[in-house]
Amino acid sequence: MDNASLSRKPPQASELVADEIPEAVRDHPYPEAGQSQSKKKGLIWKLLGLAALAFGVSIWLHLNFNLFPATSQAEQTQQNPAPTSSASPSVPSPATTPKVPAVPENLLGHLPYPEAPAKDLVSVTSDGSVKLRSSAAAKYQEMANAAAASGVYFAPISGFRSLQDQQHVFFDVKAERRQNASKRAEVSAPPGYSEHHTGYAIDIGDGSAPEHNLSPSFENTQAFEWLEANAVAFSFEMSFPKNNRQGVSYEPWHWRFVGDKQSLETFYKAHSMKK
Ligand SMILES: [Zn+2]
Repeated sequence: MDNASLSRKPPQASELVADEIPEAVRDHPYPEAGQSQSKKKGLIWKLLGLAALAFGVSIWLHLNFNLFPATSQAEQTQQNPAPTSSASPSVPSPATTPKVPAVPENLLGHLPYPEAPAKDLVSVTSDGSVKLRSSAAAKYQEMANAAAASGVYFAPISGFRSLQDQQHVFFDVKAERRQNASKRAEVSAPPGYSEHHTGYAIDIGDGSAPEHNLSPSFENTQAFEWLEANAVAFSFEMSFPKNNRQGVSYEPWHWRFVGDKQSLETFYKAHSMKK
């Protein structure tokens, strides 16, 4: 054996080498001492063996005790470091900080919605008082025309609402009616939580029966009957049917557009509501 190289290494480590290096390497025929070229080769094989051993030990230590910082050699050579570091939850690390789930918080049963970009808003009334996002407005017009063709006349009541508008709808009316917040939230969303912010939702009345506007009795109108039968063909759906999962009061007059990718994502992505 090569005594010179052995004396430089810990004896217990060199004893383990024979077991740790792969069989193919271990079986390599070590040449007799005397030929300097072969001596060098033997030394290289031993160093390789020790390196493999050190690598194995460092992986083992990392797996069991997480002894090495994230930038250690062991971490870099591991293919998938995240699950192994999560095996030791007592050691906090930025890599293991849990991500916040994409399920949004709700406020009194209402979900948060962003305001539609003003440049995409299109009026669906001649006086410009009711606006929807362009994709929803086009489909709404198509739907209203189809209804009119069968003698049913829609009266658009409310479309896009800004945060400011909703501030009034929620708080001012709440004060006027002396309602507490949860009572008010049964029929109206707090600012930032209204589907009307998206520009995809519209409150529809029956032009021939305005006394049922914004009332559950809207369900007795021809307009509602027509919507129930046909709205789906124009990609509109009722947001708050009876016993909806959000616990919002039945609103047969409030319909939302889900006919393109963005509107669908607005209302369904991450909205798996936990009741
Ligand atoms: Zn509404």
